[in-house]
Amino acid sequence: MDNIAERKDQIMSDIERALKIIKFYENFYVGLNGNAKKYLKCQSAKYKEALLNIQEVILPSIKETCPTCVEGCCKLYEAKRSIYMAGAVGGFGCVDYLLVRCDTQLPDLCCENAENNLCLFFDSGCTLPADCRSYECIRYFCDQLNNKIDMQLISKYLEEAESILTDFSIRRLVL
Ligand code: SF4
Ligand code: SF4
Repeated sequence: MDNIAERKDQIMSDIERALKIIKFYENFYVGLNGNAKKYLKCQSAKYKEALLNIQEVILPSIKETCPTCVEGCCKLYEAKRSIYMAGAVGGFGCVDYLLVRCDTQLPDLCCENAENNLCLFFDSGCTLPADCRSYECIRYFCDQLNNKIDMQLISKYLEEAESILTDFSIRRLVL
């Protein structure tokens, strides 16, 4: 079922669920105490640094390639991609959401985008700051970018970001 029109009901209902989940993450963040925020801030700095290292490598190629791309990739559903972005707003899980949210007010979601099969953080490009992407988004490279970028270097930074997510202790936030 690759046709967007056929998938529209599914996308809209998934987006509704994804919005509830992101609201839950936000409420969780808002309710954190001082010690939890201290721990979060420390891990957040490491995650954001890894993301900025990746962005530094990829941005020149993105600036060169993306403006003329007709396909686009910030879609909720894309037949050629293996991830399904309507399942989680911006591709966020709980940990990467908390890590990026930590010291940053995220931009408003554009819920109307869902009608057009676009990510709710999309507006002529990603509205999120460069160091505030989900792991799902930061690890995605289309073939065009893959061919231009030093993927060995990227893999190293991706591993760093992934290990920060894996080692993160939600338990330390609630103790
Ligand atoms: S990352 Fe690739 S698919 Fe996405 S907009 Fe850029 S060139 Fe297009
Ligand atoms: S969060 Fe940003 S990079 Fe990720 S799919 Fe949405 S617009 Fe694209």
